[in-house]
This record gives sequence, C-alpha cells and structure tokens, in this order.
Amino acid sequence: MSKKSPMDNPNTRHLSTRIVHAGRPDPRVVTSPVFHASTVLFQDYAEFKAREAAPLDREHMYYGRMGTPTTRALEDAVCELDGSVGAVLSTSGTASMASILNCFLSPGDHLLMVDSVYGPTRKFCVGSLARRGVRTTFYDPLMGDDLEALVEDSTRMIFMESPGSATFEIQDVPALVAVAKKYGLLTAIDNTWATPLLFDPLDFDVDLSMQSGTKYLNGHADCLFGVTTTRSPELYTQLHHHTLAHGMHLAPDDANLALRGMRTLAIRLAAHDRGARTVAKWLESQPRVTRLLHPAWESCPGHKTFERDFQGANGLFGTIVRRENEAALAAFVDALELFGVGFSWGGFESLCLPMQATRNLPSLTLADDEVLIRLHIGLEHPDDLIADLEKGFAAMDRLNR
Ligand SMILES: *Cc1c(COP(=O)(O)O)cnc(C)c1O
Repeated sequence: MSKKSPMDNPNTRHLSTRIVHAGRPDPRVVTSPVFHASTVLFQDYAEFKAREAAPLDREHMYYGRMGTPTTRALEDAVCELDGSVGAVLSTSGTASMASILNCFLSPGDHLLMVDSVYGPTRKFCVGSLARRGVRTTFYDPLMGDDLEALVEDSTRMIFMESPGSATFEIQDVPALVAVAKKYGLLTAIDNTWATPLLFDPLDFDVDLSMQSGTKYLNGHADCLFGVTTTRSPELYTQLHHHTLAHGMHLAPDDANLALRGMRTLAIRLAAHDRGARTVAKWLESQPRVTRLLHPAWESCPGHKTFERDFQGANGLFGTIVRRENEAALAAFVDALELFGVGFSWGGFESLCLPMQATRNLPSLTLADDEVLIRLHIGLEHPDDLIADLEKGFAAMDRLNR
C-alpha cells in the first residue's frame, strides 16, 4: 500500500506548496539521486525489442540523451508551475528560443517579433532565421489589436516578451492572442522575467511559453538551462522531437541544481520584489534619476496592463540616470561594492548593468546625458544596497563638481 502522494489533488494547493513537492522520482526521499547516464540497459532481448518499437514515453528510460529520472523530475516540477502537458528542456534559454523558431518556422514564413526582445533573439532573427528564408517584422511592444495591420498571408507566428528586455514595456498579451486566433497564428512568449508565478502565459492561451531557467528558476547563478512549456500535446511532441533531433540535452548535475533552486522560487521572488520596491522608491527621490522603468511604477510603459495581468514583480528593473560623461558612469559603477557589473540576473546577488541604447524605441528615447542602467536587486538587505548606490552617486558628483 502506498501513501497518497501530496500531488494527488494538486489544484487545491498554492503554487509555493506544489513546487516543494513536485518532481520527486523516489517518494522515499525528498531529494532525488542524480542519474549520470548515457547507456541504459534493457532487462533482456524482449524489453530491448519492445522499447525500440515503442514511441518514447516518460516512464521508461531509453538512452541518456532522451532523459533520465533527474531530467524528468525537473520537467515535472516545471509543468507543475503552469499546468502544461510537457516541458522541453534545453541547454540554455537561447537554445530554447532558437528551437522554437527553428521548429515552427519554415522557409517562406513570416514572423512578427516584438521590438523590445532580448538582444540575442533579435540577432537570431536577422541572422540565422533570415538565412533560412524566414522574414521577421519587429513590432512595437505597445501594440495591441492594431498588430493586425502587420499580419501578412505568410505570417505564421507572433513572438512576445513582456516586460521587454532592457526597456520593460508590458505587452497586451490577450489582445495579441486574439489577433493570432483570428488569423490562425502560433503564439510564443519569452516569459523569463515573470516565471509562471507572476504571469502564466498559458492561462492567457499563449501556445508556447519559454524561460531562461538560468535566471529565477535556478536562482543561484550556477547553471544555465532553458525550458519551453505548452498545453498542446501536438506542439509538445513536435518541439520535443525537434530538440532531441538536434542533440539538445541538459546535463544531470545542472538539472539537479535547477530543481534544487526551484524549491524556493516563491519565497525568493517575494523577497526580490520587496527589496526592489524599497530600492526603487529611494531611487525615485534621487536628483540624478530621471525615470524608473519598474513595471509596478506608472512611469513604466504598459503599467496598466501589468496591474491587470501580473501577480507581482521581481528584482529586475531599469532606471534612467543623468551622467555628464562616460567617466561619470565609470565612477558610479566602480564605486559600487555590493552591486557587481555582469550579465545575467535572477540569482541571489545584486547586479548593475549599463545598457547600450542600440535602438530608439518610441517608448524609450534617451537624452544625450542620460543612460539606462538595469539593476537586479538580490537578497541583500535593501538598506545596504541603498547605501551602496549612494556611494555610486557621490562618486559621480565628485567627478563633476
Ligand atoms: C538571459 C535571457 C535569455 C537567454 O538565456 P540563457 O539561458 O542565458 O541563454 C533569454 N531571454 C531573456 C529575457 C533573458 O533574460
């Protein structure tokens, strides 16, 4: 007789509870052993023939590249977050993005890609996709059902990212999904910022939701991975087979780190959000800060949509700062002791990244003496982070006195 699994009636419980219990391959232990496996042995010739003939399934191992109990546990945990039928893991968020675009777009197809998208996604569209004969139109992140005007006969997919990378515009996802439904287009979203805890795109009828798990899902700045979920069994199977065919495989230790990190996702997000709001409020009062791009602030484009659709915010936001020259910016960055300067975000540590304004979106034009600085508020005490930023501003002021 087996004890009833805590997941038997999952929908009555809060997500924070469910992530703690999801993805336990062996009910006798709360953690799972890490399977380092390439070869999987079949019991005998009969099982070998049976497995060879059967379609891949989640219950049986076949060969390490096709998954082990370690990667299945991570998949289960991710599915638990958004009620998806399957999660396709990959080696990075970038790999997941490339898989979606390569799997569902063919030569001759047209893609509607949001203009505020993550830089490497933009590069992939104008490089790799264009070479394959897929055309991309970049659309304004603040477009709603007026996106309809950009739909062509060969349009196949609308790709979204909300808030936008660097510029933080919140998209009207329901309006864009309605356009997609009207014309029979696929919808995909980069949901890295929100995770399904703050915004679940599948609840808004988006077909494919991808995340760079490198950020908040893992949350400890020690592994890279990507994941795409869907509630359509057909789309899941297509993307899963595409990903396998390209040899994409998440290494067991990284899958295990990711699963370990996900257990605390809910409390981490809440703490990042609290800290970020405290720091943002203080920044607002600083003479050098001309604008906050924090989705919970009215100054953020699409803020009303954020209030309508999102459950909360996290630790990542933008701030526009006045700096007289490059030397002032350098003095600011170098005076910071707690904020590191480096790529990525979503770990426990605070980061400060001056962003290159490579293009002027209608929603973001900077004056010559302004720079966009992206901050990630980690799990340090917000008072200490404020004191650190104070030092940065003081260093800027000293230089230009
Ligand atoms: C970091 C990031 C990615 C890429 O993820 P990697 O795991 O670093 O490849 C994609 N989209 C967004 C919004 C990101 O922030």
